[in-house]
Amino acid sequence: MAYSLETEIVAVEHDDQKHASVAPLYQSATFYQPGLNQMGDYDYTRSGNPTRSTLERHVAKIMGNAHAAFAVTSGMGALDVICRLIRLGDEVIAGDDLYGGSSRLLTYLRTQQGVTVHHVDTSKVSEVQKALNKHTRIVLLESPTNPAFKICDIPAVSAAVKQSEASQNDVLVVVDNTMMTPLAANPFELGADIWYESATKYLCGHHDVMAGVIAVQNEQLAQDIKFVINANGCGLAPFGCWLLLRGIKTLGVRFEKQQQNAVEVAKYLELVGPELQVPQFELKFPGFSGLPGYEVHKRTTSGVGAVISFRTHDIAISERLVDATKLFKISVSFGSVNSLISLPCKMSHASIDAQTRAERGFPEDIVRLCIGIENAQDLIDDLESAFRKTGILSR
Ligand SMILES: *Cc1c(COP(=O)(O)O)cnc(C)c1O
Repeated sequence: MAYSLETEIVAVEHDDQKHASVAPLYQSATFYQPGLNQMGDYDYTRSGNPTRSTLERHVAKIMGNAHAAFAVTSGMGALDVICRLIRLGDEVIAGDDLYGGSSRLLTYLRTQQGVTVHHVDTSKVSEVQKALNKHTRIVLLESPTNPAFKICDIPAVSAAVKQSEASQNDVLVVVDNTMMTPLAANPFELGADIWYESATKYLCGHHDVMAGVIAVQNEQLAQDIKFVINANGCGLAPFGCWLLLRGIKTLGVRFEKQQQNAVEVAKYLELVGPELQVPQFELKFPGFSGLPGYEVHKRTTSGVGAVISFRTHDIAISERLVDATKLFKISVSFGSVNSLISLPCKMSHASIDAQTRAERGFPEDIVRLCIGIENAQDLIDDLESAFRKTGILSR
């Protein structure tokens, strides 16, 4: 790569014949053939569209100069495409603390389609090793997870996977890098075969598009994924591609400001935590040195992200807090320019049933903050007033 990533992110290359400064939107489902026996570059948008091609080339460039990248209708669409690489008899190893929707899709594969799925604590290499065997086809990793912020040593897990007997089964290390973005982590450098993200989050950055992106470094995988996307029809529609191209250009400044704000908010929480009248205050943030896995995160990434969570160990207090902020709106998702607050067990992770949450040790009282680009002090003031309103801060 000739330029730094920040520069590459802004430089969207396209080949418009009229030299438009912005890549044109080809809002067309079909394309005319030059003749009966002559094909143009495109025929049908499910199979390919110039706006999608521009986006996919751009995304490949910023996702570690990937061999190929693909844009699909959502992050879950991306995981569904990847799961279609599972063949009869293949097994999956996945984290026990995945994004709720990912967990739901894997549960469907396991209960309805007979796929063996091992959910293990991927923050421990030995747990992954125990589940590996000659049938393992996919090892699905997410680091950090949220809201629990489990950290996976992706290079160590990848190395263990490649050295195991699973390597005879074309095992694929698949990394969901949504929380880190291409700016803070390069899963290919950590040993991933497939890197995907929910582009609905930071890549888009404005919560106005649902999209997912998938990147690979080898031609066979690229062909297989291209085939699946054409077959199942989950390629991203032209307008979504155009909006995502527009959103991505500001990823650098947005993510930098969001991370700075997150560090400020986390510092405040670290300070105020011991003063709060709650059973136990527990901060979870990759930039907080008290987080288990902090060193691994620091070694394998170059950023802290902009999602923070904390526990009060009192679900009623957590519920009141979520209702008490003003700037932090109650919403699922993250990565947009606005700050959000949520109670994951009732929102993003409600698709995991309460019993499974309990079995996997998912805390019901955990509060998640998703930090936007507002003024950091305003965000801190909003939290402080919510703590007072909730009656857990007396100063
Ligand atoms: C949101 C999210 C997804 C799913 O993406 P959608 O675009 O909502 O389908 C997958 N993984 C992580 C980590 C996410 O945050």
